[in-house]
Amino acid sequence: MNSFQMFIPTNVHFGEGKLEELPDHVKSFQAERVLLVTDSGLMTTGLIDSIEQLLRNAGVEVEVYADVEPDPSVETVHKVAERFSDMRGDLLLAVGGGSSMDTAKGARIVALQGGHIRDYSGLQAKPIRPNRNIPLIVLPTTAGTGSEVTFFGVFSDWENKVKVTVTSPFLAPNIAIVDPALTRTVPSHITASTGIDVLAHAVETYVSRAANPFSEKLAESAVALVGEHLRTAVFYGENRLARYSMAQASLLAGVAFNHSFLGLTHAIAAAVSGYAHVPHGVAIGLLLPAVMDYNLRANRTKFRVVSRILSGDSAATEQDAPVLVRQLAMDIGIPQHLRDVGVTEDMLDGIAKDSMQSVQLRFNPRPATALDVRALLDGLY
Ligand code: NAD
Repeated sequence: MNSFQMFIPTNVHFGEGKLEELPDHVKSFQAERVLLVTDSGLMTTGLIDSIEQLLRNAGVEVEVYADVEPDPSVETVHKVAERFSDMRGDLLLAVGGGSSMDTAKGARIVALQGGHIRDYSGLQAKPIRPNRNIPLIVLPTTAGTGSEVTFFGVFSDWENKVKVTVTSPFLAPNIAIVDPALTRTVPSHITASTGIDVLAHAVETYVSRAANPFSEKLAESAVALVGEHLRTAVFYGENRLARYSMAQASLLAGVAFNHSFLGLTHAIAAAVSGYAHVPHGVAIGLLLPAVMDYNLRANRTKFRVVSRILSGDSAATEQDAPVLVRQLAMDIGIPQHLRDVGVTEDMLDGIAKDSMQSVQLRFNPRPATALDVRALLDGLY
């Protein structure tokens, strides 16, 4: 019987063809010089050229920063902030997946408030102030992280082998233009890893200790959409309904976990990625069924609901939930062993220990120690 608050600061424009409205949104901020933040993979799709053209036709000056790497580093955030200040930009536009969107979120904070992006993370985090000066518009091109609406930015600190998470409602973009057509060029293996990330957001936030009636409904809808459409999106990437539904699931799950947070899968995945550079969604997909097995006893009722939504079978039991998710992950080609994604045995203790640093652990329905995590990792090695 928790009390709760819901807050969706991002203005979301969802639908096929919404990209065409971008110049109007840029102009609504009276912006004249835009820094477009993206990655080299997207440069090859032709999308960035057409967005540049769209903006130039509307009289907006655009520079492109296309060097965001997957799981972007803290250094990249600073490079983008510098570039933005050098060009005397007046609006940040992120086009890409979580990596590009998070980089722009981080760069905005650094450009506005100075200091190092690490300063805004952890227990002694510098507060992030409401921002009225640098608008951020995002165009997600993967259906995965929910970063288009979330209060989080995740950055890789390779030096310290950790992921730095910055959390504040003031990180959320001003505008998210979610045009599912932009996800049609995502290759199948990335559709798979980003799509299973959506499912992990939905399941983890659903069983979170901070779940509330509103986030639960969003999470249930996201589970249903992923269960019904992820395989189609992976195997028939041109399928409009599948892409539309996955984009919707990503958004719903993002709004849900803004308020109800995540859990052990994300705590361990951050450490796995920190140690072995495993792409976020791959680490998540590999870990999720095992963490669900671990968590089952803490909320049988909710895991039963997950089973029933995913299977469409009203007699499904809670034990079916991890089985169904493992089957989905296998069907779409998510690796099943840590050793297959570059994790070595000597990393396991460190990963287990570092998982304990994650704030997401607080929201996991079943408490976990480093020893519990080590046992779970052994099972997946
Ligand atoms: P990503 O942004 O790293 O993109 C993965 C790859 O997909 C890139 O190579 C990119 O070029 C390619 N790609 C993207 N869109 C494409 C398209 N339309 N066509 C062809 N190729 C395309 O992947 P992601 O999974 O979206 O983001 C992962 C990052 O997001 C990680 O750093 C993770 O920690 C972070 N994350 C953030 C949040 C949050 O709330 N901010 C939540 C979860 C994860």
